[in-house]
Amino acid sequence: MTTAPLDSTKLVIEKTTNPKEVLPKEKLAFGKSFTDHMLEVEWTAQSGWGTPKLSPYHNFSLDPATCVFHYSFELFEGMKAYRDKDGKIRTFRSDKNMERMNGSAARASLPTFDGEEFMKIIDKLLLADERFVPEGYGYSLYLRPTLIGTTPALGVAAPDKALLYVIASPVGPYFAEGFKPVSLEATDYAVRAWPGGVGAFKLGANYVSCIQPQSEAAKRGHSQNLWLFGEEGYITEVGAMNVFFVFQNADGKKELVTPPLDGTILPGVTRDSTLTLAREKLNSNEWIVSERPLTIYEVKERALKGELVEAFGTGTAAVVSPIKNIEHRGEAIEVPVEDGKAGAFTKQISEWIRSIQYGEEDFKNWSRV
Ligand code: PMP
Repeated sequence: MTTAPLDSTKLVIEKTTNPKEVLPKEKLAFGKSFTDHMLEVEWTAQSGWGTPKLSPYHNFSLDPATCVFHYSFELFEGMKAYRDKDGKIRTFRSDKNMERMNGSAARASLPTFDGEEFMKIIDKLLLADERFVPEGYGYSLYLRPTLIGTTPALGVAAPDKALLYVIASPVGPYFAEGFKPVSLEATDYAVRAWPGGVGAFKLGANYVSCIQPQSEAAKRGHSQNLWLFGEEGYITEVGAMNVFFVFQNADGKKELVTPPLDGTILPGVTRDSTLTLAREKLNSNEWIVSERPLTIYEVKERALKGELVEAFGTGTAAVVSPIKNIEHRGEAIEVPVEDGKAGAFTKQISEWIRSIQYGEEDFKNWSRV
């Protein structure tokens, strides 16, 4: 028997009769207030994808035995819609999010779907909740596509029912500090991911175990923790962001380095955008762009030699977050930040990405109106 694919043309729309107040920009807190509507599509193993629904934001009613509550059959995406200078709404590289979401779904024994069909109904949500997309740099509507297993049974098995849904939250700049360099603690007593594990997928289960080390780092005055792996101290990610370093090499060239996608690292859309823009726009006589393993000891040694120039994290929520120091086993690795400000490349990449997101520059059709 063939099962139904996800079909955007079947979308059923029920608009709210009780519109919410749009919060003033200064009151926006990350992911705390939501728009008037949400999207839902149910799936069953027997019939495939059901009728997509756009309806007023509401609670779910689920059986306490539902498998998502017991075995973490859950995965999600994080993407944003931006208002451009003409008032039009744009999403940034949503095809990458759809591809990653389907990869996560396949790994979590949840159903996959046609990403373009899903984006077409997300476009309808953006139109319905258009008034919640704030304007201005740093402001956007954060979209949270989510997929959960909904089989109401305790047997540990692939779900035969699932729910794909999307909620949306108007947001401002992610870090209270703004574009100010942050301090990190390198975690050496816990790892985020491991070879053969699921660190490359955006499963909710990957996040629960990361909070405790992050809280520990926060207690000692750091904004985020730096995730290491193995005896060698390989650098993997920073908090829930990918990480980049800029070194001044002895041959006079600068090197932009990020760890390779070896299965322990989430393939970030901002990471890929940073690498692509750096490879296209930087002068290759002056720069090397590398995806290669690097250890905390290399960073420490090169900082001491004065060869560490910049360090920053990348992710949808904050886009680019400059780093000012890393504490590792009681020793501080200092990243040179002049007057407490981000370095030149960190600023440059953040501006390049921003101008594409807000539709000021057209680059490889990364921005979808
Ligand atoms: N690593 C982790 C663990 C993350 O949760 C995120 C945020 N999705 C990222 C990296 C950055 O990915 P992106 O640039 O796609 O937001």
